[in-house]
Amino acid sequence: MLGPVSSCRACGAGLSVTMADLGLQPPSNAFLASAADAAAEKRYPLRARVCESCKLVQLDYDVAPEELFGNYVYFSSYSDEWLAHARAYCEMARRRFALGEESLVVELASNDGYLLRNFLGMGIPVLGIDPSGTVAAAAEKIGVGTLVEFFGERLARGLAAAGRRADLIIGNNVLAHVPQLNDFIAGVSALLKDSGTVTIEFPHLLTLIGQVAFDTIYHEHYSYFSLYAIEQVFARHGLAVYDVEELSTHGGSLRIFASHSRRAGLEESAALHALRAKEAAAGLADLATYAQFARRVEECRTSLLAFFAGAARDGKRVAAYGAAAKGNTLLNFCGVTRTQLCMVADRNPHKQGKLLPGTHIPVVSPEELMSRRPDYVLILPWNLEQEIRRQLADISAWGGRFVTPVPVARIVP
Ligand SMILES: [Zn+2]
Repeated sequence: MLGPVSSCRACGAGLSVTMADLGLQPPSNAFLASAADAAAEKRYPLRARVCESCKLVQLDYDVAPEELFGNYVYFSSYSDEWLAHARAYCEMARRRFALGEESLVVELASNDGYLLRNFLGMGIPVLGIDPSGTVAAAAEKIGVGTLVEFFGERLARGLAAAGRRADLIIGNNVLAHVPQLNDFIAGVSALLKDSGTVTIEFPHLLTLIGQVAFDTIYHEHYSYFSLYAIEQVFARHGLAVYDVEELSTHGGSLRIFASHSRRAGLEESAALHALRAKEAAAGLADLATYAQFARRVEECRTSLLAFFAGAARDGKRVAAYGAAAKGNTLLNFCGVTRTQLCMVADRNPHKQGKLLPGTHIPVVSPEELMSRRPDYVLILPWNLEQEIRRQLADISAWGGRFVTPVPVARIVP
């Protein structure tokens, strides 16, 4: 546990403006095996603030990564869509950066080597860095050499001193998970060759704001990035963003390309100029935008609680689908109880039979949900709404209906 954060983790300025105050919450993936475990459950403030100066959105209370990720093993190779995304990226990078057998590609949070193995197939040397020994062992099995370490400036300087500076550094969906942001980016700067490029992918703050997706705020995500904020973080460490791509992953992500500011002939792309303008038009440089978001978050809670009150008045039974992290953020923020929501179904057998963190609502199989014939099914992973509606289409047999919680609770036939 690292505790309260009183100033911006990037620039040190004040954090007086609140973007979303989601109350005291347990870590979103800390499912309980039984009701007996509830007494020992830990809760921490979950509050997103925005820096008065650089406008980096960040949590103002850090829970230690060991506590959040301790037993959490995520094997990237399980998702076909993500594998295809990784393959396409590697093809693009090989051509664009003219990578060959003299090059070195380093990936931060390299997981089980699912991405780097594409470069191995092209004869390009790689190095993975990942703090999880379990996934690193899986990477080694397929020939992706992996250092089991948390990445930061000390590790990067060691590698650079040993002559292992990188032509390409890759960081996909890792930056949000880093409490010590400056140490991490200083490491990138130290490890990157003078002619090298770093590419970083992260969910775009503009998407979160546009969808009022406050339920994607969890303790595991210490920061929430706009291009506006990340350019300032990079500049502090002598790095300049020169290109950007908008991606559809995670509902809307950015891939930024950066090099050392001192690199000769660095030219900013038209896409970069366009995205800066788009963010400016959306008010991401204005504190008022974030304060307005906080009001919309409160409206969502009011609206969801009104739905539950109406269902209770009419004697309707409400179940939910999808025991994902975002559902836990929402249900804990709204203080939803078992009286309001009798069960949550999930296809993952490792979650079935457990209780949701904080609300202690039981997780059941989709078959059990169907057998209970609920009047309403609340779709918690609302980004997968269409898929879930297809899976549970049979609820129409008894007049069951779907509800989605965000941006405002709405009932759909
Ligand atoms: Zn700041």
